[in-house]
Amino acid sequence: MSGSVTRTDGHSGEAWVALARQRIMRTYPDTDVVFASGHGSWLVDTDGEEWLDFLSGIAVVALGHAHPAVTRAVAEQAATLVHTSNLFLTTPALELAERLAVLAGWPDARVFFAQCGATANEAAIKLARRHGKLQHPDKVRIVTLEGSFHGRTLATLEATGQAGKHAPFMPLAGFVDTVAHDDPAALTAAVGADTCAVLLEVVQGEGGVRPLDAQMLAAARAACDAHGALLMVDEVQTGVGRTGSWFAFQQTDIVPDVMTLAKALGNGLPIGACIARGPAADALQPGEHATTFGGNPVTAAAALAVLDVIESEGILGSVATRAAQLRMGFADLAAATGTVLEVRGVGLLLGVVLAAPVAADVAQRCRAARLVVNAVAPDVLRLAPPLNVSIEEVDLALEILGTAITEAFTAAGVPAPHATASRTS
Ligand SMILES: *Cc1c(COP(=O)(O)O)cnc(C)c1O
Repeated sequence: MSGSVTRTDGHSGEAWVALARQRIMRTYPDTDVVFASGHGSWLVDTDGEEWLDFLSGIAVVALGHAHPAVTRAVAEQAATLVHTSNLFLTTPALELAERLAVLAGWPDARVFFAQCGATANEAAIKLARRHGKLQHPDKVRIVTLEGSFHGRTLATLEATGQAGKHAPFMPLAGFVDTVAHDDPAALTAAVGADTCAVLLEVVQGEGGVRPLDAQMLAAARAACDAHGALLMVDEVQTGVGRTGSWFAFQQTDIVPDVMTLAKALGNGLPIGACIARGPAADALQPGEHATTFGGNPVTAAAALAVLDVIESEGILGSVATRAAQLRMGFADLAAATGTVLEVRGVGLLLGVVLAAPVAADVAQRCRAARLVVNAVAPDVLRLAPPLNVSIEEVDLALEILGTAITEAFTAAGVPAPHATASRTS
């Protein structure tokens, strides 16, 4: 092999997995499957096997794999204009900025385009610092919540309220104060004169699919107003229809000053956005932030197609219907076996809370049955199917999940606490 590149034509699934193990940095868990194509809610692996995708590339492929409208928009834009750098604007980026401002309901919004969730949040954090420093030179601290996830760059890692993710990279810069996700008094106390922003998710995604309560959101809004800080909502996972509204904050009583988007915005094309209203929209001035690929016309065209399809196919409405079907299925399973304690989350971002810490084993058993789901906590499975998933696909997933959950409890020797089963809510 020395000196020559490994040939991949005609590779078997096994050979692809071997190449992955040899050539890709080990930042992710060991791989045992490589995918070659996808259509709708289905992925196809390098052996031609079909997998039902109830994770949608982690809430990214909201319209399903290879949606024809997105494919067409990307192909047309790729044949028209691919890149100009941030020295020049292009029509898709401008149309997208206008659409996002309208969907947010923010007439004075301005948008900064990034490539992903972390880079959208980086922009938000820098924006908040500029906004803070205009009031006081030391107003640069941000408050975030335990269990949050905001990305893996150094600043967004620090904003992520998960000590285990910080540990290998300590020391961090030390500009973040983290409080419990369910303690409004602690949040109020943490925001002070040196706080430039509170950054939070309306539903914590990676942190276990945990919706914040209304009191927590109200406390965040009030504390920001009291101290001239910005309320920044990270809608990277919840935004663009996932929860059944365009943005999750639209189902709450708060309006943030800044929101960030990424995952579903491009249905798999890498685009992120930081959207600000009011004085926050003017906090970043010329030369203070930039990125070469931001607002790239191909990714912006994909995002425009995503917004069109969500509107024209009435997707926001079907999110609630499919979510109800899933919840009903788990309520039946809970009543019959007691293995499921609760289904939490909003819309089609659901966390299935199990009565024992067997979520990883359940996810593994689902994979063996070619259903993709993941464990976000020892006792919580995350489901985030495509928003246009069909009734039949939901039924199939429920069947596989029911079997996998029951088997995992049996394998762990955990008697399902049938008598104490609570209803899913
Ligand atoms: C995924 C995610 C991010 C990070 O997005 P990347 O595109 O992986 O950088 C940030 N915030 C939330 C809420 C996320 O779910």
